[in-house]
Amino acid sequence: MKLYFFECGILKSQKQYFTAGRGLLEPFDVPVPFFLIEHPQGYVLYDTGNALEVAIDKVKHWGDVIAAYDPVMTEDQWVVNQIKRVGVKPEDIKYVVLSHLHLDHAGGVGHFPNAKYVVQRDELYYAYVPDFFMKGAYIRADFDKNVDWFILEGWRDNKFDLFGDGKIIIYFTPGHTPGHQSLLVNLEKSGPMMLTGDACYTTENIDEDVLPGLGWSPSLCIQTIQTFRFLRDQRGVQIVTGHDPVAWQQYKKAPAYYD
Ligand SMILES: [Zn+2]
Repeated sequence: MKLYFFECGILKSQKQYFTAGRGLLEPFDVPVPFFLIEHPQGYVLYDTGNALEVAIDKVKHWGDVIAAYDPVMTEDQWVVNQIKRVGVKPEDIKYVVLSHLHLDHAGGVGHFPNAKYVVQRDELYYAYVPDFFMKGAYIRADFDKNVDWFILEGWRDNKFDLFGDGKIIIYFTPGHTPGHQSLLVNLEKSGPMMLTGDACYTTENIDEDVLPGLGWSPSLCIQTIQTFRFLRDQRGVQIVTGHDPVAWQQYKKAPAYYD
């Protein structure tokens, strides 16, 4: 297996939105990651970054939310254009696992014609009827599409083994949103890596008990982060944080990969 890290541009934001109570008005530029896994039985994407429309007219596509999260992205950085540069066509993608349906994760939905889109039922529901404080983070035009949804059912499907071989395991990790999920990738040489999506934005969230700045349920955010901490400290799992400008610099980026 190969695991590729990609960056779909950045969000110009404030630190307080990632670490609650810390960094009020402090400028904070975070990466927008997505990941490609080459498994013997097919290609898997974990998240898809921003929509192509963001590179063309971000105000029109994202609206008022850019006051808090201002995307900087080129057409070249769109998921479809980036995977092509490592030799993968959109029709080669077998599964698109969506951590959740926020605008910087679900922007590529609908562009992989042969893919099953793996999403939690609670997430798909909430994306249509979010609480007021989450409304700006869901762009209905991104996910309201006639794709082949592959629905998982929360705790009942926790630790879902995507290919049945123990290589790619989907953890139910609610808190940031009701139906957030994370991806454990068991690599031969690099060992187990947990792609946390938005369930653990930065190293501060996991090392210093700092709540993320945006969360649907703070108590579930903490429960999920405790799971990551257990896996890291007791099982040797490497935790890949979601919007961490410092940690992100240290990872190999495509076309380099982890295997
Ligand atoms: Zn999010």
